[in-house]
Amino acid sequence: MSHRPFIVGNWKMNGLRSQLAEARAINRGAARHIGVRVAIAPPFTLIAAMAEDANAIAVGGQDCHMAQSGAFTGDVSAAMLKDVGATFVIVGHSERRALHCESDAIVKAKADAALAAGLDVIVCVGETEVQRDAGQAEAVVCAQLDASLPTEAGMAGHLTVAYEPVWAIGTGRVASPADVATMHAAIRARLDVHFADEGKQIRILYGGSVNAGNAVELLAVDEVGGALVGGASLTAESFLAIVAAAGPQDD
Ligand code: PEP
Repeated sequence: MSHRPFIVGNWKMNGLRSQLAEARAINRGAARHIGVRVAIAPPFTLIAAMAEDANAIAVGGQDCHMAQSGAFTGDVSAAMLKDVGATFVIVGHSERRALHCESDAIVKAKADAALAAGLDVIVCVGETEVQRDAGQAEAVVCAQLDASLPTEAGMAGHLTVAYEPVWAIGTGRVASPADVATMHAAIRARLDVHFADEGKQIRILYGGSVNAGNAVELLAVDEVGGALVGGASLTAESFLAIVAAAGPQDD
């Protein structure tokens, strides 16, 4: 199945209101690339304002709680994200898994909660450098998928998987196209097992130090349906260069 490439910016804990100007510029640029689906996940504090201005990009959260509401100080639920204009949420980013001790079971519960609230979900998976060096990359990623993917029938159209080798995130080191092809093929095979034909709708994004210089090569790899971009998504100049690598500008 062919898809519009999906380019998602993860702003992490970056961005004050003054940076909304960059988001507006990204939105204007994305409007000239209708063959590319573009999204930004800013910090919670900017979602409402960014969503209000956006008509060519989707705006989403970087995380959500698995409960709908309650005594969870500092957390934000999927329904709250939706309420302020988010249409998707990222779950299981390696920084959440490592720094907030999020297990696969927690990631799955968050994904389920987000789908129930009507959000699309990007589930992140990826191996550490130690795991790769030990020859365990495929096994680790497949086990993460098995335990963290939501399984409710009929939801595949709302799911995206992001393969992000941990050692490539924010390091300037990028997985080789051959390794990306191997990992994406393994992920596709797991999606076939979980979702059968329905799973063909699920895009698999690559993430890890994607920039304007390497995007064309990475996006050309089989089964790479787009990119999850951290650092290079923070300015319109660098992010739109990746969008341009994903698809031509409309006249
Ligand atoms: C990310 O945070 O998901 C990411 C891929 O970051 P970077 O592009 O900076 O490596």
